[in-house]
Amino acid sequence: MTHLGGRSLFNIAAWAGALGVALFVHGTPSAAHAATPTATTPAQVFQVLGGKAPADWPALAQPHFHVRAQPPLLALWEGGPERPVVNNIPMPPPEVPFDQRPVNSQVPVFIPRGFAAPYPNAAPGHSSSITLTFDDCGTADQIQAVVAALADVNEHGVFFITGQCRDHFPWLVATLQSKGHLVCNHTYSHPDLRRLSNYGIRSEIGRGVMAGCPYFRPPYGAWDGPRGRVAGIAAEFGLQVMLWDVDSRDWAGAPADRIAALAKGRGGIILLHLHGASTPEAIRLIG
Ligand SMILES: [Zn+2]
Repeated sequence: MTHLGGRSLFNIAAWAGALGVALFVHGTPSAAHAATPTATTPAQVFQVLGGKAPADWPALAQPHFHVRAQPPLLALWEGGPERPVVNNIPMPPPEVPFDQRPVNSQVPVFIPRGFAAPYPNAAPGHSSSITLTFDDCGTADQIQAVVAALADVNEHGVFFITGQCRDHFPWLVATLQSKGHLVCNHTYSHPDLRRLSNYGIRSEIGRGVMAGCPYFRPPYGAWDGPRGRVAGIAAEFGLQVMLWDVDSRDWAGAPADRIAALAKGRGGIILLHLHGASTPEAIRLIG
């Protein structure tokens, strides 16, 4: 169910038309490459992400193990009780928890705490389908919880992480892409772009995540409209502004059942955050 419906797609197309922007996707996340044709429009990207059939839904990365043939236990026992019985069946290497992976502590991470600029509900029209999007950054534990919850319900998300988050967690982009998620641009340091010069906007977007995703989400949803500076400079990078239909307010502590009811009831693009306290539980409830 995690895909854009017709109306949201129309909105995106309308923005593109209004901007006169030539949208393109040079690369899709690596995990999606094998199973999907080259995407040329955002609509196709989301068709790929939203498809349920195995052929067009990039499978979640699964470990593959080669289990060598073993002699029966009885044969091992026949060697005598003094002979140690060794369980040498190769076991999967434990996945290193995210909080034990390398971190670049020189790079700060933007994790807001219950405050935000006004969030415009700026993508008009809702669809009956749902696209889960995850913004900003979080602790390694929080990120792991979101990734695990998505895997549990076999859904894919669109991640708008900051460049600081990418630099702080060097493994993050590759990890998300290996699970089939889109990783998109949310600036470098999460400023309100309306307050910056054109040079500043260019610098923030340019140092943000460029990982084959054609979408850009301005921090706080703060932009100056489809013909404004923010959208125009994003277009210079081949990026299109994607806002959202539903603000889950997970960043402000909204309970999981309320988030899930809102998402299912209104549909469309759902704004969630990697640092939301109840976000993983909400993902499981949305299913
Ligand atoms: Zn943000």
